Amino acid sequence: MRDGVLVALDAPLLVIHGGAGVERASLSAEEEAEARKALAAALRAGHAQLKAGKPAVEAVSAAIQVLEDAPQFNAARGAVFTHDGKNELDASIMDGASNRAGAIAGVHRVKNPILLARAVMDHSRHVMMVGDGAEVFAAEQGIALVDPSYFRTEKRWQQLQQALAEEAKAQASSTPLMLPGKAYFGTVGALALDAQGKLAAGTSTGGMTNKRYGRVGDAPIIGAGTWADTRCAVSGTGWGEFYIRSAAAHEICARVRLGGQPLARAAEGVIDRDIPKAGGDGGAIALGADGSVAFPFNTEGMYRGWIGADGVPHVAVFRGEELARP
Ligand code: ASP
Repeated sequence: MRDGVLVALDAPLLVIHGGAGVERASLSAEEEAEARKALAAALRAGHAQLKAGKPAVEAVSAAIQVLEDAPQFNAARGAVFTHDGKNELDASIMDGASNRAGAIAGVHRVKNPILLARAVMDHSRHVMMVGDGAEVFAAEQGIALVDPSYFRTEKRWQQLQQALAEEAKAQASSTPLMLPGKAYFGTVGALALDAQGKLAAGTSTGGMTNKRYGRVGDAPIIGAGTWADTRCAVSGTGWGEFYIRSAAAHEICARVRLGGQPLARAAEGVIDRDIPKAGGDGGAIALGADGSVAFPFNTEGMYRGWIGADGVPHVAVFRGEELARP
């Protein structure tokens, strides 16, 4: 399967992404190999849940946890830094069969934000919790909290320094600064179709390098960065403000459900046409209840992969790459 589509794979199925901000120039061969390994491990972890007959939400959270723990991706450990040098984490999860969802934003100490989003969905009366309150809820739920230094990696710190320097230069010459593009985003996401034919979606991120205090992107916003219903599931990665304004994840699924569009056409229409037209960029993964899959992106690469009933992981990073065995 190449960048685009693969139609009607058999359930159970798991599709993941590790962000659309990947650039060849800023990735060593060793880093690339590590990232591919982590993608394969995430696929296997999610697949193990599906194989054991667990529901799609279990597979989504298992796969995302592996990607959150891997420092290569912009989620939990390895998250990008805010303007004032913090790691501020957002995540969400949605169960397509029951239309339930959970989301958290702006947390600094939650080791696996996807687990907290899941707890909001399963053990609260709410859909979204933010900041200190979300961390109080995490403690109540017995979800692991860590010192904020746990999330820090040197590479992300250097990316912030570079972003600050570029910003200062642009301000000095009063050139408008186009923030995103290289290394400003990342994000991880997963979609699953379980043996019962039910879908789930989840997304977890550190947001965008140099984001300002309190900025929340699309990843924890149900319908923007994450969506699942009975026919379609989507997780996005890219310049979040544009995904929010276009309700990107929901829009893709609405075009499938109400507009009768094939999944790949709907996904490409929103990600590769509407968002760039508005000035944004990024990618997404989309999965249909019929087993159709799409991986649209308009950046240099997007960490991505899928695993089917046979349990063989397939991963790819750059444009035009075959989704091969790692
Ligand atoms: N969409 C995320 C955000 O805007 C960033 C990303 O995909 O890496 O927060």
